[in-house]
Amino acid sequence: MELKESIQAKIAAITEQLGAFQEACQRPFITSSFQTHSLPMLHVISRIQPNVPVYFLQTGFHFPETLAFRDQVAREFGLNLQNVESHVPKIQQRNAIGNFYFTSDPDYCCFLNKTQPMQPLLDQYDVWINGVRADQNANRKNLRPIEETPQRSFRYHPMLDWTKQEIWEYIGKMDLPRHPLDSQGYISIGCEPCTVKPSLDDRDGRWLGQQKTECGLHTELVKK
Ligand code: SF4
Repeated sequence: MELKESIQAKIAAITEQLGAFQEACQRPFITSSFQTHSLPMLHVISRIQPNVPVYFLQTGFHFPETLAFRDQVAREFGLNLQNVESHVPKIQQRNAIGNFYFTSDPDYCCFLNKTQPMQPLLDQYDVWINGVRADQNANRKNLRPIEETPQRSFRYHPMLDWTKQEIWEYIGKMDLPRHPLDSQGYISIGCEPCTVKPSLDDRDGRWLGQQKTECGLHTELVKK
């Protein structure tokens, strides 16, 4: 149960940063995709400031297992879970031949269902907390712990310097629940139509055969 010192130090840094936000009356919110590797951040923060709202981007294309897991985790961790979805109805999310945009223009589909619904939150709150890690891909490697967004809030990346090994050590030591699709060979689990099985590595699990590696949240919503 004893966490190694490097993890304890990182949790202490998160505690301190959350305290600093509170002292400055800066209101944070969290987004999470509710994959297993997302859980250490949710677990750590829920034990420090349990009322911080946790937003789930309800694209309408998630696996039913993800929705059930989201609800289970929210219940077990006592999260202040909020769902947010696109204001564009699915009937208007189809291309000229009647197929959903993810079949022909996934960037636009991600914009409608992820990036755009985030924008009001970035105006409403002061701090957007999300769980990106530097070891996930080249784009994330270049992020800093605190970044500006194009809106009024700024981003805080508490897990940026956590390694994959530390994430899994925390999950094991804290006996956190596992997304039910992990055991079926999925490694990176997002919207069902864009998730590939089996995955070659963490980010090759999405948008097979395309250059796309990010949905836009961590590229478009960073001030350039
Ligand atoms: S991941 Fe796929 S289905 Fe989900 S919003 Fe992006 S393009 Fe659409």
